[in-house]
Amino acid sequence: MIDFNNTEVAFKLKSNKELKNAKFLFSLIRRPFIVHILGRLSRLALKIHLPVDWAVKPTLYRHFVGGENIKQCFHVVHRMAKKHVKSVLDFSVEAADSETAIKQTFREIKRSVVNTRLHSDIPFSVFKPTALTTHSVLAKASSHTTMTPAEQMAFNSFMQRFDSLCAEAQRAGKPVMVDAEDYCFQRAIDRATEAMMIKYNKKTAVVYTTLQMYRHDRLKYLKYLIDLANKHNIIIGIKYVRGAYLEKERRRAKEGKYPSPVYASKAETDKAFDEALQISVENHSRIHIFCGTHNEASIVKLMEYMAEKGLPNNCPTIYISQLYGMSDNLSFNAAKEGYNVVKYLPYGKIEHVLPYLIRRTEENSAIAGQTGRELIMLKQELKRRKKKKELKKESKKESKKESKKESKKEIVNRKSKKENRKSKIVNRKS
Ligand SMILES: Cc1cc2nc3c(=O)[nH]c(=O)nc-3n(C[C@H](O)[C@H](O)[C@H](O)COP(=O)(O)OP(=O)(O)OC[C@H]3O[C@@H](n4cnc5c(N)ncnc54)[C@H](O)[C@@H]3O)c2cc1C
Repeated sequence: MIDFNNTEVAFKLKSNKELKNAKFLFSLIRRPFIVHILGRLSRLALKIHLPVDWAVKPTLYRHFVGGENIKQCFHVVHRMAKKHVKSVLDFSVEAADSETAIKQTFREIKRSVVNTRLHSDIPFSVFKPTALTTHSVLAKASSHTTMTPAEQMAFNSFMQRFDSLCAEAQRAGKPVMVDAEDYCFQRAIDRATEAMMIKYNKKTAVVYTTLQMYRHDRLKYLKYLIDLANKHNIIIGIKYVRGAYLEKERRRAKEGKYPSPVYASKAETDKAFDEALQISVENHSRIHIFCGTHNEASIVKLMEYMAEKGLPNNCPTIYISQLYGMSDNLSFNAAKEGYNVVKYLPYGKIEHVLPYLIRRTEENSAIAGQTGRELIMLKQELKRRKKKKELKKESKKESKKESKKESKKEIVNRKSKKENRKSKIVNRKS
């Protein structure tokens, strides 16, 4: 059984200054009121192009983001790799609003896919499909209404970009993951990802889909994917997450007067998440697993399912993953026991990653338990280091005292030897 409370292993790479920064951040973002105000201010700053670098860069950005570009992330990648934790570079643009922006984003994502070829410490790439086209095109393609010729053309471009990223992943020999986002876009994204898996996943999982297990239709969809894998003789790659847009989905469903796509309780989401992991381990010859969670109980369950099935900790088709800046106690302790662990490492300019950062703070304040846990761990580690430092000081003092005593003894010894010699000479003379 792994000790996920071992803070020495969890924070080995963090300096005292970094830990204090993290402690300050988490104590701030556990207060929903502050997060609410920060969120509103940041959104306003984004809207009116107010510079926020001075406030965000040394705090939130430094804690949750790897750098502005791929190159700047390398120091974090190499640092984590020393402790056997690998990285997935995630270009964190949430949505592009113009054709030029979409093209730019696509080029950057492609760079990140190609980049995996050069680095053994970056075993996957990832992208958000909403960055490859407009929301309206994805929403239309996901609904049952017919698209106009212009929309159809835009959707075809989306598919070409999607395909080109998957082809690049195949060339790189490293899988690419397709993030899941809002329910209203997901049908088109699912169909596109299935087509890519049929095309590229013949020998191994090149393309990974994402299943948000807070959706009550996802266990059924998992069974559909297993049938698809058997039918086409392919390997399905699946990233499992609980889902990041709970409140938004419920609100949209209420406004649009359709049934909520997400479970009514956390317990149901948890049950579905763990069941999906169990089914996937049972079918591990057909499913490659990427378990994205900060939930310790689910990780323990996955480890138990693996052990029951006789799979080794470092089973090459099973990965555990957390976001950079969160739950290091899970990542580094699991990696120490030989499990395959990767951190999602976001990168991008502040104005691009700000929405991601706002979501992280909102998520952390919404899951008070998680933030509380993070804080306890940070405090525990700072305390442990302080105690260690004090003990070191104490033992240094002790050894100084000892050596002083020793040298005093030495002086006395030498003096008495001298005295002895003198008295011998006197005796001989007499
Ligand atoms: C590596 C990685 C990749 C990710 N990629 C994606 C992605 O592509 N798409 C995406 O949407 N998210 C993604 N996420 C975020 C993820 O979906 C969760 O929001 C986040 O990880 C918190 O869930 P948890 O499993 O870590 O832990 P927990 O704290 O145990 O679970 C919190 C989650 O439980 C669910 N939940 C909470 N309350 C309720 C309730 N009352 N009823 C029903 N369900 C509830 C919600 O999904 C909530 O986020 C990713 C996370 C990680 C670590």
